[in-house]
Amino acid sequence: MIAVTLKPSREGPVIAGHPWIFSGAIASLVGEGAAGSLARVIANDGSALGIGYLNPRCSITVRMLSRQFEEIDASFIHRRLEAALALRRAVVPPDITAYRLVNGEGDFLPGIIVDVYGPFIVCQSLTAGADVLKPLVVEGLVRLLSPQGIYEKSEGGVRQEEGLTNTAGVLWGEEPPPLFEIQENGCRFLVDVRGGQKTGFFLDQRENRALIGTVASGKRILNGFAYTGGFGIVAARVGARHVVSVDSSESALRLAQKNWQMNDLLEVQGEFIQADMFSYLREITESFDLVVLDPPPFIRRRQDLKVGITGYKEINLQALRLVVSGGQLFTFSCSQHLSAADFFQTVLFAAADARRSVRVLKHLSPAADHPVNLAHPEGAYLKGLWLWLGD
Ligand code: SAH
Repeated sequence: MIAVTLKPSREGPVIAGHPWIFSGAIASLVGEGAAGSLARVIANDGSALGIGYLNPRCSITVRMLSRQFEEIDASFIHRRLEAALALRRAVVPPDITAYRLVNGEGDFLPGIIVDVYGPFIVCQSLTAGADVLKPLVVEGLVRLLSPQGIYEKSEGGVRQEEGLTNTAGVLWGEEPPPLFEIQENGCRFLVDVRGGQKTGFFLDQRENRALIGTVASGKRILNGFAYTGGFGIVAARVGARHVVSVDSSESALRLAQKNWQMNDLLEVQGEFIQADMFSYLREITESFDLVVLDPPPFIRRRQDLKVGITGYKEINLQALRLVVSGGQLFTFSCSQHLSAADFFQTVLFAAADARRSVRVLKHLSPAADHPVNLAHPEGAYLKGLWLWLGD
């Protein structure tokens, strides 16, 4: 097996449990293997730091699987999946039919995402190492959950960096139907795994959608970047007066309208607008009691940081103009390359330019079925603020 020895100055984070070893942290790499091969990781004094998988072409050269030297086989993967399931059984409410079972690095299975949608499972493999482990993951999921089908939808920037193309299709059992229903926060949602974004639904926002349900009654709401209606539908179900859902994707909005009807909501209570949020926000003059901004990641690569921050500032500035005094803003960023502190500062700058006083009611994060390893701050990609706006 390949042996990777770290520079002494770079061992600290790995010893603390950080799962990534950057190329610059490696003192020597002995042995050869294709992308995705296993590698033993060793401290400079020769002691074992653990085992990971390797992709020599990536700046994240090794992703750690275990903090000890052990066999990475079906039994290892099964144990990881069992632990992941035990966590969900402890933290996911019983009336939820869709949840994230494996959150990559946050479940010590780097590069592997597993979302459960009732009897179907949707997996994403983001790295070469995850691709190698895929058959063992499928075997483990079948043993653990006896699903009706397991579908793969692996895509995105990380795969590109790893030298991999996108791939989708059935891994086991039946193909999921084109649209199937899940339940969340007392609402029904149709999910389109194949045509939808990511694995089909943004499960990470479940608790934040629930939160909006606690304050939405009687309110006029703008659900910006609405996707299939999530925040707006939860709000309307608890009695929001009016919800405007804006998204640039026609297919997402079509599904949002279907979801609206499925939840027995009145047609007059909801408005669906296909538009670019940047232009929409600049053009409207209407005001709202509550605005949600849940954009896609504006910063996909580190070099996009400046442009991305400008984007976050712009939408927040425009949205702040539209919220009444005594109104609320739920604002999010899911850019991994933007720290929570920098995002909060960007919102502050927007508030300063808008001349609005802003108070934080709560810092927001992903639902509990998206655990983040404390040693791996990069895993905390989704951050948000629930704000109370004064004059
Ligand atoms: N809040 C949603 C998830 C939002 S995902 C939920 O709870 O399910 C981000 C959404 O932003 C996607 O639906 C995408 O189509 C949309 N989007 C991306 N760029 C946009 C833009 N410039 N204007 C409007 N919508 C955009």
